[in-house]
Amino acid sequence: MTFLNSRFNELAPYVPGEQPQVRELIKLNTNESPFPPAPGVTAAIAKAATRLALYSDPTCQAVIAPLAKTLGVAEENVFLGNGSDEVLAFCFQGFTENGVIFPQTSYGFYPVFSQLYQLDAEEVPLKEDLSLDLAPYFASDKTVVIANPNAPTGLALSRPALTELVAADPERLVIIDEAYVDFGADSLIPLISQYDNLLIIGTFSKSRQLAGARLGFAVGSASLIKELNRLKFSFNPYNINSLTLAAGQAVLAEPDYFATCRNEVIATREFTQAELRKLGFETTDSQANFVFVKHPRLSGKALYQALREQKILVRWFDKEPIKEYLRITIGTKAQMQTLLTTLKVILEGQR
Ligand SMILES: *Cc1c(COP(=O)(O)O)cnc(C)c1O
Repeated sequence: MTFLNSRFNELAPYVPGEQPQVRELIKLNTNESPFPPAPGVTAAIAKAATRLALYSDPTCQAVIAPLAKTLGVAEENVFLGNGSDEVLAFCFQGFTENGVIFPQTSYGFYPVFSQLYQLDAEEVPLKEDLSLDLAPYFASDKTVVIANPNAPTGLALSRPALTELVAADPERLVIIDEAYVDFGADSLIPLISQYDNLLIIGTFSKSRQLAGARLGFAVGSASLIKELNRLKFSFNPYNINSLTLAAGQAVLAEPDYFATCRNEVIATREFTQAELRKLGFETTDSQANFVFVKHPRLSGKALYQALREQKILVRWFDKEPIKEYLRITIGTKAQMQTLLTTLKVILEGQR
């Protein structure tokens, strides 16, 4: 017996990275920040909690105003979602009349949303070196969705390369998912005043210590933002709860904390990457808060399992062409030192 509409029979939902409820694991599997939220966040949430009997502000003014200022755009250019996953869901639902084109190896939600909204989806394979081949996107008139830097490879495209794609066809929407942009790549946000067919997606989950609060955003022309609001107000006007609005506002009030954490993650990434190479790992030139690595002597699966036995959780994708790779989130320096020591022992056991 099923009550589910038959059009969802084939739907294969997104599989999130594990969120173990035990503390003794070193958790390097879902690209969260290893640092606590900005110091002001706890008090801001406590204060907002006294008003929980009321609905949250559907205009999200408390976050939109400072976020627009932080990003150097106008308030009419910013939209907030319940995580960037919700923003992406609105985009896949609302901006894809001609179908959608995205990389075959990228964020796992893109194919899920394509199925959910029954889109004509084209998946473009990566090049041999795992970088993006942009030629098929130029040749297509479908809505483009590209994560920059890409996940799980960590590789970034240059601003000029993406600008060329946006400029090539003003009638076609290009959506750039910048979940990891703060860790190295160039944001395309400064270009939204020039290109009405460009929409940038961002999140507070990776570089702003709020993954559990669920806060994402879109930046684009006033007209695109208006259209996103039409979708939101047809679905859930209160999509950002008041505790999350308070948390987001508090985070934006502490830009120095944000910069310190971000710089620390970048420095630890460079350290980890160099040490992994010394152990014989091949690494991509990751511009994100994770590294993407493989070892010539041990399979991705074997390494994943061996680390798990030692209470270190990383992400392994049982999928070509990245089956031999591990995606390892950058944690604190101490966590990464434990990871490196553990890997050394695992590799020595292989000799
Ligand atoms: C983590 C991630 C997201 C989702 O972030 P939320 O804001 O937590 O929903 C979106 N896109 C990419 C590429 C990601 O890695």
